Amino acid sequence: MLVGLYKHDNYNQQFTSRLPEGVFRDVRYIPHIRCALCDKFMMSYTEINEFIEKIPKIITREDILREIQSFDDTKHDAARYLIKLINTNPKKGWKSLVTDNNVLREIMQMPKDTQDNIVEIVQHINKYKKNLNPNIYPSQIIPGLKRLKKLLPEGYSQFIEILDGYSKKFPHKSFKEIINDKVFINYHRQIANSQGKSHKLHVQSVTDRILNLGKKLPYCDRLKLKELNKQAAQIAGILNYSPDFRRALINELYAEFLQKNVENRLIRNQYRKYISSIPLRMVSGDDIFLLLKNGHKDNDIELIKDMFAPVLSSFEHAVPKSQDGKNTLSNGIFMHAACNNARNTMSYERIITIFPAFAKYVQNQVSRVTSFIKSGQLKGYSKYPVGIRDSLLEASNGKLKINVRRYIREMKAKTLRQIEQDIENLEENRSQVSEIDKQVAELLSKKESLEQEFQDGNKTLAKHTSLVNYLNKEENKMRKKK
Ligand SMILES: [Zn+2]
Repeated sequence: MLVGLYKHDNYNQQFTSRLPEGVFRDVRYIPHIRCALCDKFMMSYTEINEFIEKIPKIITREDILREIQSFDDTKHDAARYLIKLINTNPKKGWKSLVTDNNVLREIMQMPKDTQDNIVEIVQHINKYKKNLNPNIYPSQIIPGLKRLKKLLPEGYSQFIEILDGYSKKFPHKSFKEIINDKVFINYHRQIANSQGKSHKLHVQSVTDRILNLGKKLPYCDRLKLKELNKQAAQIAGILNYSPDFRRALINELYAEFLQKNVENRLIRNQYRKYISSIPLRMVSGDDIFLLLKNGHKDNDIELIKDMFAPVLSSFEHAVPKSQDGKNTLSNGIFMHAACNNARNTMSYERIITIFPAFAKYVQNQVSRVTSFIKSGQLKGYSKYPVGIRDSLLEASNGKLKINVRRYIREMKAKTLRQIEQDIENLEENRSQVSEIDKQVAELLSKKESLEQEFQDGNKTLAKHTSLVNYLNKEENKMRKKK
């Protein structure tokens, strides 16, 4: 049951490994979508990409000089000229240097070879600047992270503070250098460990009280209570699961025991009071710091993506594939990868029994996806609401009821409007057809009269021909007589 802290693979894999190529490609980009299990915001690819695109990518003069230097052997004159140009104009940027009119005039007077080489190097640098994966410094991402705070879980604000502290103390260390620094890692590991330890002690003090309440119980029941306490302490420490869900699991854990072994209502309430005060371990900034050291070590952009891995939305099949669940949007809800992990071992029926808020959260999500479809940003998914309702009913043995009545009503009204429009068009077409029919009839009668005329003409022609033949014959006869 225990899962390590944010046990995550490559964040891309989390999504794509579960989906066949090409399916749901659009769905991954729905923004502001909340997790079906914990109701906290998740991040879509769009939001993460937007965040990354907004990071100003700083390329230093040294980076450019180093790149030009690599042409020193093959394009010596051109490289020398550009290096000198940069060094003698320390205040001018690359772009303004290579577009300066005086510089261009100077280049025009050089031999043709050198000119060509300069053009080649300039093009190379422009491309390099575009594709370069530069160092990213925490100071560049902290303002953006602060803006995202609302979307990110609790531990993140502490993590941003930690990062802020480092960036002020070590402004020349890039993000990856800070994350991979062994001294920092050890420091945060120590804090995380001590947080774990103090949490355990805190839990122990509460579970001791629970055990104390049961001191008059028979020995075997007390053993059972001890075992429950142990399991509750474990659940309280699973950072992967949302606090509400952990609370629900702990309540469920003791429910049967209380039902069977504690008859007195007052005492039962006393138990419940203690149980609900079992403290839950919360994700801290140190935990997030440690999470990152397992990700991409040498690429700042990838490392930043790793930072969002725990809040990225992942797809989960409502009806599992093993039970012929389909790979369609209508058979899926979205959860954090960690929440998804939490569900894997549990049926919807059970989740909804121990954690009734689940039904509301799923409904919220279905409404969000539906409104996204209605807004026209997601085309070709108009059957989603009805489909997801059916999938969830099937997956939960009829317990998870999603309300899509309003959508169906709207779709029906829309379809009716469409039919009316079609009928109108049809009427218009019909009148056009009768107009054409009339024209055809006119043309046909014209054709008939022309045919009549043609036949009459033929008759006259035949008459004339036989007369000519007769006259020819008579003429021949007269010639012979002569
Ligand atoms: Zn969640």
